[in-house]
Amino acid sequence: MEETKVIYPGSFDPFTNGHLAILKRGLEIFKSISIVVAHNSGKKSLFTTKERMRMINDSTADLQGVQVKCFEGLLVDYALEQQVNVILRGLRAGDDFGYEFQLALMNRRIAPQVQTVFLMTDYNWLYVSSSSVKEVASLGGDIGGLVPPVVIDFLCAKFPKLAQRRNHLRPA
Ligand code: ADP
Repeated sequence: MEETKVIYPGSFDPFTNGHLAILKRGLEIFKSISIVVAHNSGKKSLFTTKERMRMINDSTADLQGVQVKCFEGLLVDYALEQQVNVILRGLRAGDDFGYEFQLALMNRRIAPQVQTVFLMTDYNWLYVSSSSVKEVASLGGDIGGLVPPVVIDFLCAKFPKLAQRRNHLRPA
């Protein structure tokens, strides 16, 4: 059998330790994973697609078998075009489940040959989301330990209040 082609899609606005943990566990199952950053010109994001790709590249530089790409449009179209076998997604508490379930079923309806594989989050990252990180960081709160160190640099560049407290953030 050919090598399984796996993508881990998401907004990653910004990339968090929750995302990183799913990626690392995915790499225990799959030899190689492409993180694909959703480029959505109609949706407002804090970081540009390029910035998100750069922070992911920097945060995963020490991992083998990771590629960082981006896509625009319908995910299953991209998956079919790239001959992807598996879409990897992470699951947190109940809220994610309804949304992810619907998405996975819709994707399967369109592309039955592409399987969605879910990995459950860890206690540590259960309540970590890109949106809560953004909210706390914008107010200068301590997001140390919730995102990879390079992502703190990206956040400090956007939020002066956080930059002022840079030296007092919790270590990674
Ligand atoms: P999207 O906009 O596609 O949901 P996200 O960047 O929010 O993009 O999330 C990408 C994937 O990572 C989703 O499957 C999401 O459930 C998962 N994810 C996000 N945060 C965590 C976390 N703390 N633990 C585990 N999985 C997570």
